[in-house]
Amino acid sequence: MQPFLYNAAASRVIFGKGTISQLPAEVARQNSVRPLLLSTPQQVKEAESLRGILDGNIAGMFTEATMHTPTEITQKALEYVKLTQADSVVSIGGGSTIGLGKAISIRTGLPHICIPTTYAGSEMTPILGETADGEKKTRSDPKILPGTVIYDHNLTMTLPASMSATSGVNAIAHASGFPLEALYARDKNPIISLLALEVIKALAESLPVIVQDPSSLDARSKAQYGAWLCGLCLGSVGMALHHKLCHTLGGSYNMPHAETHTIILPHVLAYNAPNIPEVMEQLAIVFAESNGDAVHGLNVILTKLQVKRGLKEFGFKEEDVDGAAKRTISNPYWNPRSVEEAPMKELIRRAVMGEPAK
Ligand code: NAD
Repeated sequence: MQPFLYNAAASRVIFGKGTISQLPAEVARQNSVRPLLLSTPQQVKEAESLRGILDGNIAGMFTEATMHTPTEITQKALEYVKLTQADSVVSIGGGSTIGLGKAISIRTGLPHICIPTTYAGSEMTPILGETADGEKKTRSDPKILPGTVIYDHNLTMTLPASMSATSGVNAIAHASGFPLEALYARDKNPIISLLALEVIKALAESLPVIVQDPSSLDARSKAQYGAWLCGLCLGSVGMALHHKLCHTLGGSYNMPHAETHTIILPHVLAYNAPNIPEVMEQLAIVFAESNGDAVHGLNVILTKLQVKRGLKEFGFKEEDVDGAAKRTISNPYWNPRSVEEAPMKELIRRAVMGEPAK
C-alpha cells in the first residue's frame, strides 16, 4: 500500500433519537455553568426549548446567526459573550449557527457544543468560513473543531423537504470533493476514501425518500449519519474547485450556500471527469441509476430531489459570469484539472442558466 497520513478528528459524537435530553450532562462535562445559546432568528423556538432543557441555567441567547458568518455579527455576539460572562457556547441549527459558534469559540477559547438540525456537516470540520467586505475567507485550525456534537434525528423532522435535499447534496459535495483529491492529493488516505463512498451512498439513498416522505424517521437518521461522515471527510482533506467556486458565488454574490453547492456539483464533476477516471467509476457504482455515467447518476438524483438547477433562479445575473470566473481563478484551490478562465466562464454560465453539465 502507498504510505499515508491519517489524522483522526477528536470530537465527541452523541447520535440517536431524543439525544437532546443529554445536553445538561454535556454542558456539565465541559465544566460550564453559563452556556450561551446560539440560533438564527428563524430558530428562536429551538433555542428556547434548550433553555427549558437546561432549566434556565444559561448566560443568555444570541439569535442573530446569519448565513456565511459575517464578521460584524460575530463582533456583536462577542460583545454579548463578554456582557453575559458566558463560559461555553451551544449552537442549535445549521451551518450558519454552527459557523457563529466556531467563530466565537476560536476567538475566546470557549468550549462549543453543536446541535445540528440540517445535513450540512459543518459540526465535524475544523473549518470556518467568514465573510468580511463581501469576501468569504476560509481557514482551518484544529481548535475550530467543536468538542461535542449531539445529533438528534427528531430535530431534523422540521427541516423542509427542499432544504433537506439541498443541505444533503451539500454534504455529498463535501464527500465527493474528497475522492477527487484522494487520488492525487499528497494527504490521501484509504480510511476517508471508504467513508466518502459509504456516505455518498447513504445520502443518495435517503434524500429522495425524505423528499417523498419528510416524516420518515428512518431516512432522516440515515441522512444524518451521512451528514456526520461527510463532515468528517471534509474536515480531513483539502478542498478543490467545487468549494472554491461555491465560496466565490456565496461570499461575493450572496448566493445561498446549500443551493449553490447543489447546482454547481454536477458541473464540477463533469469538468474534472477527464482527470479522475477512477473516481468517476466508483461514483457510477454508488449512484444506483447512473448507467455507468456518474454525472448522469447524480443528475437522476437531483431530478428526484426536485431542486433548482440554475443560479439565475436566485438572482445571479448573466453579466456577473466573467467577474465570478476571474475571482475563481484568483488564488485557486488545488484541483485535479487545471482551472482556466475560459472553461470556468462556460461552466459558470451553464450553472447560471440551469443548462446540463458537460
Ligand atoms: P443554514 O444554517 O443557513 O440554515 C438555513 C435556514 O434553515 C436557517 O434559517 C435555519 O435557522 C433554518 N433551519 C435549520 N435547521 C432547521 C430545521 N430542522 N427545521 C427548520 N428550519 C431549520 O443552512 P446550512 O445549509 O445548514 O448551512 C449553510 C452555512 O453553513 C453556510 O454559511 C456555509 O458556509 C456553512 N457551512 C460550513 C461548513 C464548514 O465546514 N465550515 C460546512 C457546511 C456548511
